[in-house]
Amino acid sequence: MSTAAASWPDGSLDVPEAVARGWRPVPFREFVIKVHQRCNLSCSYCYVYTMADQSWRSRPALMPQDVRQATVDRIAEHARHHDLPWIRVVFHGGEPLLAGAELLATFAAAVRRALPGHTEGRFRVQTNGTLLDEGSLAVLARAGIVVGISLDGTHAAHDRRRRFADGRPSHARVDRAIGLLGTRHPEIFGGLLATIDPQEDPVECYEALISHRPRTIDFLLPHANWSQPPTRRDGDPEDSYGRWLAAVFDRWYSAETREVGIRLFDSLLALLLGGRSRSDQLGLSPVATVVIESDGAVEQSDSLKSAYHGAPATPWNVRSHPLDLALYHPGFVARQLGPAALGPACTACPVVQVCGGGHYAHRFRAGVGFRAPSVYCADLRYLIDHVRSRVAADLAIAR
Ligand code: SF4
Repeated sequence: MSTAAASWPDGSLDVPEAVARGWRPVPFREFVIKVHQRCNLSCSYCYVYTMADQSWRSRPALMPQDVRQATVDRIAEHARHHDLPWIRVVFHGGEPLLAGAELLATFAAAVRRALPGHTEGRFRVQTNGTLLDEGSLAVLARAGIVVGISLDGTHAAHDRRRRFADGRPSHARVDRAIGLLGTRHPEIFGGLLATIDPQEDPVECYEALISHRPRTIDFLLPHANWSQPPTRRDGDPEDSYGRWLAAVFDRWYSAETREVGIRLFDSLLALLLGGRSRSDQLGLSPVATVVIESDGAVEQSDSLKSAYHGAPATPWNVRSHPLDLALYHPGFVARQLGPAALGPACTACPVVQVCGGGHYAHRFRAGVGFRAPSVYCADLRYLIDHVRSRVAADLAIAR
């Protein structure tokens, strides 16, 4: 067993004891399907191909038909067993549209047919946008599959990091796809996903993104951990990502009308006012997402691939095991334990109820596991303190 595998939670979280103390699992609601394992882009920060886990090499590129059927059956079984009012299926990759829009539509229809009558199926594809055209968008719209597109801000910023394997830039194709989506099928435009690059001007990035009129934007911190820290330029402060996000927050928060929903900021504001988070980058809400790989392997969040080889793995496969088994896997339990999953530094932290230790994958340190504070601790603290002071000032004026 590797040092990493022996550390928390895999080597030491006592699940039977947690059950004896009253913990009960939250059923899975979101099913991330790795329908195609390869990608036609070669982004500089991609955690699937360039970081620790290399399991994609041994898996089928396209999820075979028997695995697709087993996945449909397991999702329906889980929904039935837990009497779920809705579930969400996210087609993911690699680049899921390498499987073809028709295949995704057929897959979604099979899930809808298999679900119990009272369970609503919600469907989404997370794509790099380069393969979207009028035909594929029409297929996705007919199938009711919402489309989320990865776009990293301005033309220059996007093309600096999101290129084809042969070095060609991708922005022009993505820009065209977003235009088609926004004009022909706005009802399935699910928003933009931007991975933060502190080299880019934060306000220019934000304004480039909202120029596409998305309903929502997700800003992601690049996946990193204490053993593979985030990139910071010489001379950057230790909270450079936090300062970058705070600058975007100020631009967004100061707008005369609400221009767009930003899940990270909406969650932060909700948490500061005593509500709940909808972002897995903040807060202590239980995570109810499971990943199904192209060979049927049942896995934890894809983001753990940034930690060490095999980090997201479980012993199970949809061909032979129900998804309920995974609910009691230490890795899944750890993400549903709330504050009990945090180490002493986070537990003692004054902003723990808002931060929640940050993204689970960002807490990894070799030999310790996933119980260190986030490698973005200083960034999160800066952002939270900044937003708290803006909100407090506004509340004081309102009073
Ligand atoms: S990651 Fe840092 S800011 Fe967040 S709860 Fe832990 S110690 Fe506090």
